[in-house]
Amino acid sequence: MSAALVPAEVLAPLGRARGRALMLGHVHPDADVLGTLLALGLALEARGWSVEWGGPHPAPAYLGFLPGIERYRRLERAARGWDVVVSTDCPNPARTEGLLEQARPGAVVVNVDHHADNRRYGDVNWIEPRAAATGEMVFDLLTALGDPVTPAVATNLYTAISTDTGSFRYSNVTPKTFTVAAALVTAGADPAAVASALFERREARAIGWLGEALGRVRLSDDGRVAWLALPAGVVPEAFVEAEDLVNYPRSVASVKVACLLRERDGEVKVSLRAKGEVDVQRIAAGFGGGGHRNAAGFTMSGPLDRATATVLGAVEAAITGGPSR
Ligand code: AMP
Ligand code: MN
Ligand code: MN
Repeated sequence: MSAALVPAEVLAPLGRARGRALMLGHVHPDADVLGTLLALGLALEARGWSVEWGGPHPAPAYLGFLPGIERYRRLERAARGWDVVVSTDCPNPARTEGLLEQARPGAVVVNVDHHADNRRYGDVNWIEPRAAATGEMVFDLLTALGDPVTPAVATNLYTAISTDTGSFRYSNVTPKTFTVAAALVTAGADPAAVASALFERREARAIGWLGEALGRVRLSDDGRVAWLALPAGVVPEAFVEAEDLVNYPRSVASVKVACLLRERDGEVKVSLRAKGEVDVQRIAAGFGGGGHRNAAGFTMSGPLDRATATVLGAVEAAITGGPSR
């Protein structure tokens, strides 16, 4: 495997026999950030490190099956005194809501990410945009460090890769994705158990919520844009977190850009998805957000209908402006 591609300056601080590590997550953590922080942190701990996990928001309930997730805490402030602060899957230090800068004095900040727009805020940075998920990178990292991939570690990394690739369906999937996934299954990750934990744990009421949400999907006259605007309180927040609702507007054949706009914490959280022709990362960047070419996001102020009109205008401009200007 390409473990040799892991930069030496990333291996050095993590290769020490012992130390204190803070595994720091981004806002509204997903399976890629949580799975990678847990996998790497559990490996360090098994080697004798003292490890803590946390971030600005708690882990969502739907990821409660990740081994070690009970160790992940919501942090109001971050303590100092770490040898290493690890940030994964986080393109922008602002996405730790100040925790990174609080924890930073005296520590080596290790920044491991697959977002091309990563701000390189670490003391050491390893950014690999060709990786489908940060989970692919952390597998290489553990291999290079010589740390054993236990079933717990494998389950965390397999879930990270599975979710960031839409269960191995998106265009970010490469041969390497399957190579790593195969190694993780060999090491004890159970694909059926992970898929069941992710997709077959809905409470009965969620079918009604799904209907409520999907009834709000709208399509532009030319069929190229589909969107779903979800006011606060229509369905529970934990339900929206657990469901990739933006995939429903995306699934319409004619659609080039799909948008999910949801009211959250008095703001509007926007998720954009594309199918290769339109670069939604550029659209998101225009609103202060980021992401990948085919999956990006940002937050803007409401109200919801004004935000929706603004976003649809920007999407329309990107589509008529031609491919990836
Ligand atoms: P989401 O729409 O939240 O599922 O995010 C899709 C992609 O966009 C992920 O790679 C996120 O890391 C990225 N992303 C979402 N929101 C932001 C933001 N406010 N700033 C930077 N990147 C974001
Ligand atoms: Mn993430
Ligand atoms: Mn990711």
